[in-house]
Parts: sequence; C-alpha cells; structure tokens
Amino acid sequence: MSVDPHACDDAQLADLLEGEPAYRVRQLRGWLQRGVDDPAEMTDLPAGLRERLAARLDPPARTLAHRVADEGRTHKLLLELGGRRDAEAGAPDEPGSPAPPAEAIEAVLMCYPRTDERAGRATVCVSTQAGCALGCPFCATGQAGFRRQLRVGEIVRQVTALQRRLADGTIDVPGVPDHVTNVVFMGMGEPLANADATVEAIRWLHDGERGLGLSARSITVSTVGLVPGIARLTDLGLPITLAVSLHAPDDALRDDLVPVNRQFGLDALLQACREHQEATGRRLTFEYILIDGVNAERAHAQRLARLLTRRDAPRVAHVNLIPMNPTPAVPWHAPPLRQQQEFAAVLQQAGLPATVRRNRGGDIDAPCGQLYAEQRLGSGRLLPAAQQAWERWPIQLEAKP
Ligand code: SF4
Repeated sequence: MSVDPHACDDAQLADLLEGEPAYRVRQLRGWLQRGVDDPAEMTDLPAGLRERLAARLDPPARTLAHRVADEGRTHKLLLELGGRRDAEAGAPDEPGSPAPPAEAIEAVLMCYPRTDERAGRATVCVSTQAGCALGCPFCATGQAGFRRQLRVGEIVRQVTALQRRLADGTIDVPGVPDHVTNVVFMGMGEPLANADATVEAIRWLHDGERGLGLSARSITVSTVGLVPGIARLTDLGLPITLAVSLHAPDDALRDDLVPVNRQFGLDALLQACREHQEATGRRLTFEYILIDGVNAERAHAQRLARLLTRRDAPRVAHVNLIPMNPTPAVPWHAPPLRQQQEFAAVLQQAGLPATVRRNRGGDIDAPCGQLYAEQRLGSGRLLPAAQQAWERWPIQLEAKP
C-alpha cells in the first residue's frame, strides 16, 4: 500500500510514524510544506525512518522538463507523478491505496511583477485529472480521453514543486514574491469531476497549519459546470473564486460545445452559481472561448449579455474572452482581432466587465493541457468528437484543409 501524505490528517500521519516521538509529525509536515516530498531529502529524520517512509509514501514527483517563456515570467514543469511501487490503480483519494500508474502532468507558474497599482503575484495553474472524460470538442485534452484521477498529493505537489523553486531562487523574477500567491485549478481535467481530491487539495492549500496557508480568495476553481460539484464547493464554506466556462449563450449551442450541459443545463448552472455567490459573497468569473464561425458572432454576444444580466443571474466579476488557440486534432481557430474586440464591446455596453485574454506561455506550448496533447496527437488526424462538431458547422467545413 502506498500512502498519500498530503491526504493524511495528524492522526493518520502519527499512525504512519508509529513508534516515533510525536514531533516527527510536525517535521514531516514541515518538509511537505516546503515542497520536499522525497524522504531521502528529509535530513532531520533518522536514516531508518527515511527508508521506512520511502517504502510507504507515494513516490516523489520527478521533473521531466522545465521550460521557460514570456521572458522568464512563465515556467512550465512536466512532472511525473505516481507509478513506482504498484502498477495497478487504486481508489484515488484513500490515503492508503496502491500507488497509481505514472502520469506526466504539467504545472504552470505565471509571474506577474509588482506595478504601481498591484502587488506582484506568482500564480500556479494545476491539473486535477490525467486526461478528461467530458469530451468538449474544442479541447484536445478531453478528446484524448480520461486516464485517471489525480490524488490530493499529486495536485498539491504541482504547487509545492514550484513554490520550492521560488523559495530557493531557482525561479527569480524581479517584482514577484518568493512564494506562490495564487492557485488556479485550470489545468488538465475537470476539477469537479474529481471533487473529493479537489476539495481536499483546496483545504490543504488554505490550511496554515498543515499546508500553505493561502488565502481562500486567491484560489480559483474553473469548471464547465458540474452542478453537484459546485454545491460541494459552496458547502466548503470558503470564499474561493469560481470561474465557470460557458462557451455558449444558450443551451442548444452549449449542448454541442460542452456536452455535460445536456445533463446540467444553463438554468441549473446559473442557480448553482447564485447559491455559491450567496454563500460566499464572491462574484463569479465567466470564461468564453471565442471560436470563429461557431460562437463568436455579434448575435452570440447579445445573447450572452442577456443571459448574464437577467434578474436571476449571479453578479459577474469578469467575463474572460479567450481566443481559440491552435489545438492539435481540432479544426477551429479564433475570429479576427476586430471581431474579438466587438464581442467584448457588446458585453461592456450591457454593463459587464469583459476583456479579451492574452494567453500566457504561448511560446512554450500554448495553454494548459496542450503539452500532453502534442505528445499524443501529433498525427494531425481529427479525433471523433472534433470530427462530429466540425460537420455541424458548415462555415468551418469550407475552410477544411
Ligand atoms: S474543456 Fe475542460 S471539461 Fe471540457 S474536455 Fe477539456 S478539460 Fe474536460
């Protein structure tokens, strides 16, 4: 059996350290908080205990690649997680289940230097699943399929691996703190399809005693709208930020672009968002990917403005418009710049704070999920979901190479 130490409470760690003095729990936690997950490096523990822990704990994260972009302000780590002792996958969120199979997972650090208006920030984007089962046709990660859930420790290690590099000066960007200030759950996978591990990871990141002590307001969870998962976040009772990926202004189009909408339509989604807002006092962020010829016409912007300003809509902090990035095995692309700006202007005229996002890390591999996609989907063929979606939109068919 392999133990995920980040998923353990103090009593479980004490069991693991049976026969050792009580202060060993604090020592082990201290190492984990500093991003040291290999017992061999826990130098204040006796050698015999380090060996015992190495045999019992989940394997440490192994860095496969570290790439830098945006003049040193974006760092992408490709980490190998899991996979050392037991080949078979176990229940992902039990502290003592078999070690899951090895997966290469990307974690991204985006540095925002201090300005006259804002303090410097170091934001880490984490993945919560290896692959994704939800099959959105514009997303290479989803089309490559689902492989497994990440454990709590596999999620928070993505943060602590980067925190450690900030603290020891391996990553040193002028005007940026030497520690992680924000975490966004926007990497590979749908966080609320792995809700148990996501909620526990949020608790660990927020907890100052056993984790990093991050302010809840600096933690953002991005979801395509799994209503039961949003309710779990509401029950958590922390004022985290919820970012909901809409991508369409009505159910008919959203059923195609975000297939899970067939299960949880826009009415149920907006109600869950409102309940989250009422419980936390936080306004919501909405994300909308702009795809030429599919959802980026003026009429779509007008419908989106109506949706987000109707009486029962939650209050909107921001609408993030994301131009479609070139994606392996997906035929779509972003509309022209002027059309992007016009789309934003329609929302702004309706009183919604909307901006067009510039992608970070575009000169390494484009955004989250695509490092994996490039590895697996290099053939250039269209995957089934993209093929079906392609055939639904004749404008795009004319542009088919
Ligand atoms: S957009 Fe998100 S939910 Fe949809 S397939 Fe991609 S990773 Fe999954």
